[in-house]
Amino acid sequence: MGEVTRDPAVVAARLRTAKRALVVSHTAPDGDAIGSALGAAEMIRTLGGSAVVLSHDPFPSSLAFLPGLDRVLAQTTMPRDWPDAYDLVVVLECPDLDRTGFDAMLRERPILSIDHHLTSEAYGEINYLDAEAPAVGEMVLRVADAASVAPTAAMATCLYTALVTDTGDFRYSNATPRAFAAAARLVEAGARPSEISEGLWGHTPARVIRLTAAILSTLELLAGGHIALITCDRATLERTGAAPSDTENLINIPRGIDGVEVAVLLKDFDSGTVRVSMRSRDRVDVQAVAARFGGGGHRAAAGCSVPGTLAEVRETILAALLHQVEVP
Ligand code: 5GP
Ligand code: MN
Repeated sequence: MGEVTRDPAVVAARLRTAKRALVVSHTAPDGDAIGSALGAAEMIRTLGGSAVVLSHDPFPSSLAFLPGLDRVLAQTTMPRDWPDAYDLVVVLECPDLDRTGFDAMLRERPILSIDHHLTSEAYGEINYLDAEAPAVGEMVLRVADAASVAPTAAMATCLYTALVTDTGDFRYSNATPRAFAAAARLVEAGARPSEISEGLWGHTPARVIRLTAAILSTLELLAGGHIALITCDRATLERTGAAPSDTENLINIPRGIDGVEVAVLLKDFDSGTVRVSMRSRDRVDVQAVAARFGGGGHRAAAGCSVPGTLAEVRETILAALLHQVEVP
């Protein structure tokens, strides 16, 4: 069990001593995962070290515009020069090491964790944890400030993307004064909100639209219209030509249905385990439900992996949710 801190200066001091860092985030990466990883890597380079970003899973196509993404290693194995060539692992947005997809392998080097989940474990040598941070990207900006690193335009673009995606375009309850203050700083440093929005939403591949149509056709409204459930299986991906990462964001559509308190997306890709994504309007605590199945997240956005068939997991999750929806 390492040191838990809310002081970005502790992180800045540690990063200064890193000669070659491996930067990782979570599986099925989103904008905060990749944006904060790229921003942190750039900061480490500015401090005189070198950094390699490793992602267990491919990124959603909506993030393709991020500067530096072409240099990310998207592979399920460690870099070939691991662990000899590295002296620090920076883990972003992962409440436990399992979320990286690499777990035990990373433990061969000292770990520095930066995270904003309520359920974060102190698995690192240093754990910079702040559940009030709107995005991990915002925490990386605080570290840059503490290290006296002025964000480059590329870094600002990555961190702004982390912020804008994790706050749902500044619509969620984590769109706090802190989120807007960081956004203002990042725009001053060269992030361009209109170009980033266009990058995120203006280049949707046709297969994603086909996948959206297929997934929405599975919509069920349950519990008197308070729960919206959609599903995606391997056959749906094959039929539409889509990849698992293309399902990112789709859950927000049923969440917006009038009267819906909780939206659930069940993904069954024949691994014997069903991935569960949940979104609420804040009244229902989906993190509590995910935690019952070994997952986690935030009050209004959480996920877990549950062993079983699609039908079995559907029953299990609905039973757990019904209880929450009745007593929100
Ligand atoms: P998503 O539905 O996009 O996969 O996940 C929503 C949020 O829930 C993520 O930002 C993450 O914080 C959390 N989350 C999703 N899956 C897991 C999981 O398996 N374990 C934990 N601890 N958190 C998860
Ligand atoms: Mn996040």
